[in-house]
Amino acid sequence: MSRFDEERRELVQQLRERGITDERVLEAMAKVNRHEFVRQPFQNRAYEDTALPLAAGQTISQPYTVAFMTQEIAPHAGSKILEIGTGSGYQAAVLAELECHVFTIERQMELFLAARKTFTRCGYKIQTRYGDGTIGWSEHAPYDGIMVTAAAPQIPETLLKQLGVGGRLVIPIGDKEVQSVVIVQNTPEGYTRREVAGFKFVPLIGKQGWNK
Ligand code: SAM
Repeated sequence: MSRFDEERRELVQQLRERGITDERVLEAMAKVNRHEFVRQPFQNRAYEDTALPLAAGQTISQPYTVAFMTQEIAPHAGSKILEIGTGSGYQAAVLAELECHVFTIERQMELFLAARKTFTRCGYKIQTRYGDGTIGWSEHAPYDGIMVTAAAPQIPETLLKQLGVGGRLVIPIGDKEVQSVVIVQNTPEGYTRREVAGFKFVPLIGKQGWNK
């Protein structure tokens, strides 16, 4: 077993102890090589439960946050999931390990190109798009789940419209310092909403996000 394999196993154990209960999510996180998504000189820290810097002033989210958001979106094999904020591509890879059909959008060209290379190198089949994800990806709607991995001032209306019945939208909402992860479910009776406080994401910048 390599050093990274051992560290990844320990990370998954920590996630379990921190309250992640969905065994399928834990299994997926045990499979994805986070060190492939982290640039030097941070690779040695890939299995710490912490966010790490990416290019363009962005971050790869903390593994706990990735596990939490994945658990909340409750994906099944074959679910069609739209992610806004590809970043390194790590979150998308976790969803792909869960056998979801993953569509992901990134607004920073450098990250978009790097993530595409990583997906090819690691063998992930994920649909990528460069642009403003606040307006979604209408061609493939409706989605079983929409996950936004950057913080918005309010829920983008367009994303709600692209959520199928039974689907969940998971999105951090708040100011630029601190946010709550909001989980909206589209039920036949209408939308339900709950939220969990205490997260910090980089801003969602776009037509239906922050303007800078
Ligand atoms: N999910 C990523 C990962 O696994 O590495 C982490 C994403 S990082 C916390 C948030 C990303 O959202 C950044 O890469 C940022 O450029 C991107 N972003 C911000 N606003 C966006 C928008 N309107 N459309 C698409 N991507 C956006």
